[in-house]
Amino acid sequence: DPDADPTDGALSEELFARARRVIPSGVNSPVRAFGSVGGTPPFIDSAAGALLRDVDGREYVDLVGSWGPMILGHANSLVVDAVREAAGRGLSFGAPQPGEVTLAEEVISRIGPVESLRLVNSGTEATMSALRVARAATGRDVIVKFAGCYHGHVDALLAEAGSGVATFAMPGSAGVTASTARDTVVVPYGDRAAIRALFAERGHEIAAVITEAAPANMGVVPPSGGERGDGVGFNRFLAETAHAAGALLITDEVLTGFRASREGYYGIDGAVSGDGAWAPDLMTFGKVIGGGLPVGAFGGRADLMALLAPGGPVYQAGTLSGNPLATAAGLATFAQLDEHAYKAIGRASSTLQQLVADALTAAGVPHVVQTAGTLFSVFFRDAPVRTYADAKAQDTGAFARFFHAMLDAGVYLPPSAFEAWFVSTAHDDETLDRIAEALPGAAKAAAQG
Ligand code: PMP
Repeated sequence: DPDADPTDGALSEELFARARRVIPSGVNSPVRAFGSVGGTPPFIDSAAGALLRDVDGREYVDLVGSWGPMILGHANSLVVDAVREAAGRGLSFGAPQPGEVTLAEEVISRIGPVESLRLVNSGTEATMSALRVARAATGRDVIVKFAGCYHGHVDALLAEAGSGVATFAMPGSAGVTASTARDTVVVPYGDRAAIRALFAERGHEIAAVITEAAPANMGVVPPSGGERGDGVGFNRFLAETAHAAGALLITDEVLTGFRASREGYYGIDGAVSGDGAWAPDLMTFGKVIGGGLPVGAFGGRADLMALLAPGGPVYQAGTLSGNPLATAAGLATFAQLDEHAYKAIGRASSTLQQLVADALTAAGVPHVVQTAGTLFSVFFRDAPVRTYADAKAQDTGAFARFFHAMLDAGVYLPPSAFEAWFVSTAHDDETLDRIAEALPGAAKAAAQG
């Protein structure tokens, strides 16, 4: 239609209507539906650097970054070249290929506790498989997780989960059997007394505690201690408590891995958490390690990983696991993630934090910015957020107004108050200036309840 205004969103509207007829709620992952902020999600046509372009020709500065993987920005030329080159040599072999070895070596060289690693196709698969190894190693069934932590849509881990489960205020998920739910115990995040009491009573039944190394799926809620130097860090406390009872600690770094720092959150927490070394037994990864292609990984102590088939009794497999395009994208991403890159990401992150805080303060909007390394999020609440209950107490209405004003001004934020904001090495000064221009108006919109 030659009379159509190219920026009115008509094509996205039309696609969303078509999508809802053939795809549940029109999306393949819940938060994309804009359910908690309202409105029609722009359908994306292309992306480059820090920018997204939708099918209606509207351009946005992207602060979602595909929820983490696009740490070098979109369509990074070296990553795209590596994928093209790999594609020319075949898309999938179902047989060992060199990229798998190099990618495992790269992860192991960065993350001390990982001695052995297996690649899967998503973060969900990584946490699901890590639980299976932990249960096999201990001969126990019970898994302990924290309210507000999200570990993918694994049956056993959906209780009081973050991310989309938090966005839509769901207590868990239908379709999870009662026996599965019984084997999961949920504890408030950071509650050392509750963990001590639970282990005193049921320690002999517990296979593992799983925690996000720094929770970022209820917004960013860094673990207490450790980083701030006030005694034993929460993750180290979990490791010690679990180990004393013969249980394992799994730290989930799907989101924080290779983002919070070069060595993930462990690089921040593991080195300075009290006096002495500590380590999780198993760790999970995803997002950044696939450079935007579908990859996850789990790894840790060699003796535990040796339990996997065919060498051991724990079955785990994947037709596309270790896919050559995915490992090429991951390796080309790692090749660019040096100290310089993390400095750039850190700089963009802290500049943005300051800009947002200044704009919200000027408009009188209650808020708190919380960080875990270079990762951050903004809560629409005036008190620190330490637990999922705190996170749920924020003003999601103010966030929705802020979100839409930013979107109208060309800045694409996570469409949920419970998510981290993602910057990349492509978020340069010019990009940050565009965000700075959008902020005062959006802060005013947030203030106008
Ligand atoms: N664990 C964490 C900490 C995550 O943030 C996510 C995804 N946001 C997952 C697991 C699940 O990863 P995926 O969506 O790739 O299954």
